[in-house]
Amino acid sequence: MKNLLELTPAEFAGLEFDCPCGRRHSVGIRKILIESGCLPAIVPTVKELGGTHIFLLADDNTFEAAGKRAKDLLCQAGLSLHGRVFPGTPVLVPDERTVGSALAAMEPEDDLILAVGSGVLNDTARILSARTGIPYVILATAPSMDGFASTVSPLILDGMKITKSAVYPAAIVADTAILKEAPMPMLTAGFGDIIGKYTALADWRLARTLLDEYYCEQSVALMERAVQKCADNAAGLQKRDEEAVRYVTEALVLSGVAMGLVGNSRPASGAEHHFSHYWEVECLKRGVEHPLHGNSVGAAAVVSASLYELAAGELPQGFAPPDKGQILSVLKAAGACTSPKELGISRELFLESVLHAMEIRERFTILRFLHQKGLLNACAGALANRFYPAAG
Ligand SMILES: [Zn+2]
Ligand SMILES: [Zn+2]
Repeated sequence: MKNLLELTPAEFAGLEFDCPCGRRHSVGIRKILIESGCLPAIVPTVKELGGTHIFLLADDNTFEAAGKRAKDLLCQAGLSLHGRVFPGTPVLVPDERTVGSALAAMEPEDDLILAVGSGVLNDTARILSARTGIPYVILATAPSMDGFASTVSPLILDGMKITKSAVYPAAIVADTAILKEAPMPMLTAGFGDIIGKYTALADWRLARTLLDEYYCEQSVALMERAVQKCADNAAGLQKRDEEAVRYVTEALVLSGVAMGLVGNSRPASGAEHHFSHYWEVECLKRGVEHPLHGNSVGAAAVVSASLYELAAGELPQGFAPPDKGQILSVLKAAGACTSPKELGISRELFLESVLHAMEIRERFTILRFLHQKGLLNACAGALANRFYPAAG
């Protein structure tokens, strides 16, 4: 077996191997391209996938950033193309209206969906692709979340956040010269989603140590190295340094790949994601705007690492908790949010989330650990005082 750490992201496409963890892993994406100036490769990519009648999905912003160029190149290459370009404002939501409107715009001849964008457009294309059986390609415009290489679509249905199973993209094309120009909150969001892996992986290790949960060393090593590269280049992100943006993009794609390898989101999601999910759902219920997913994940990673700190005396012997100081310093260096207060989460919602975020799913994390030890209430109070110091 090839050492996974020696592979470039492109080499993960179509990979299949027997892993020392005892499982056979495979990656169902046929092509992964993360390079500066690779947008024109959209033409051969679409052709290789057999696309002749392309349905392009974008919004005004992503069409401007990359969609128009892609469209011109594809049309010049003699391919037939039509599409649905949503308004750039208000912010597009992956709800019934968006999914239905995109579906209604499709034509019977369409044989390939080209999504130009990031989170919402990718999620919309993914659900369309899964239900119509037509493959989709994502042309990324912002490194804002780790769902590029995922197989699920988080949607907002009847005002509730619901994750629907869907399919991998057939190909991911990410031109870092375009990605680095994405709005800064999207760059920091992608970075925050990656820094959240520190606590996600700690939660997985804790579950392996205490519950003997299935664990894949290869996938963990893969994620750790990708996260480390982002952390080492954190300061470059604020300057839109293309290399820093490329590392974040690679880590986001590999995070999806790692989830695909092990068949669940363990390599990418722990208590920090439960916090972020809880905050998003509560903001939705209250009709208030919520931060971008990755920006809340980054701040929640600080919360989760603080919980590990409070749990220090209770952790199994020899267990290495996530390094809160390191998480804080790299988030700051990248210009990302470091606390729930900074995100705009109220003290009351924060307290509630410490107590209840673990109910989002069965998964064992530091939250369930503290709950089982009877320490969660005390920790919630201590953290609320720390993150929301009384005025004066
Ligand atoms: Zn995430
Ligand atoms: Zn494995």
